[in-house]
Amino acid sequence: MSDILKDKHFAFNVWDFESAKAVIDAGARCNKDVILQTSALIYKRIAAKSFLMFVKEYSIEKGIRAWLNLDHCKEKELLMDAVDNGWDMIMADGSSYNVEKNIEFVNDISKYAHERGVLVEGEVGQIIGTEDDINVIKECVASKEDIKNFVGQTEVDFIAVAFGNAHGEYVGVPSFRYDLIDYTIEISNKPFVVHGASGMPKVALDKLLGIQGVKKINISTDIKKAYRRGIKKANINLQPIKISSSIYEEVVKEAMSKLELIK
Ligand SMILES: [Zn+2]
Repeated sequence: MSDILKDKHFAFNVWDFESAKAVIDAGARCNKDVILQTSALIYKRIAAKSFLMFVKEYSIEKGIRAWLNLDHCKEKELLMDAVDNGWDMIMADGSSYNVEKNIEFVNDISKYAHERGVLVEGEVGQIIGTEDDINVIKECVASKEDIKNFVGQTEVDFIAVAFGNAHGEYVGVPSFRYDLIDYTIEISNKPFVVHGASGMPKVALDKLLGIQGVKKINISTDIKKAYRRGIKKANINLQPIKISSSIYEEVVKEAMSKLELIK
């Protein structure tokens, strides 16, 4: 059984019970624990408490651990709701503010979360691209000064930094600031989170997986693409069970292909 803070995990974005089941089944087939996460948009419509119960019960049944994270959330009320509902982690995303306000926002919610045993992820710099209800047009790679201030003045459990990574699709070969990752890990000694790991060149993903302090790697777009493949393969079949089975198979395959990269 892996430790969420010490070991490496992929975190897959899911949108309903079926996609959660597919990710947990992929974890079970690879014998790897998994993190499941939803966007704020999906959190609002997923029956958060029942969803948590499903994830916990089903992962126990399958013999692995699965944790649930509310990804990229800027709304304090919603973050508190996830804490109250017993979700394992929340991402208090104040990255669209300047670093002072980001620190203030994160600290405000961290106290509430930590008192209730919930882990908090924070982010410095803004990751370009689109992720459900989040759309960042201008890239904002973190500065070392902001990282230092954020690390020194917050108590986050996981830290994400914009290092040239992107949500959605990569256009061309991305150039990553690995020095920012090393710097963050060195000064914080906190688990580092890689956002936007979908569609990364294999060599980059392998390199990131090889960095000891990188502990959480987020996969969203690749899972959504698997969903689309599943629909296409079902070929406008009228039977819902055939369409959802086709989606399920593709999502399991995609999640397994990522989980197998963890040695
Ligand atoms: Zn993200």
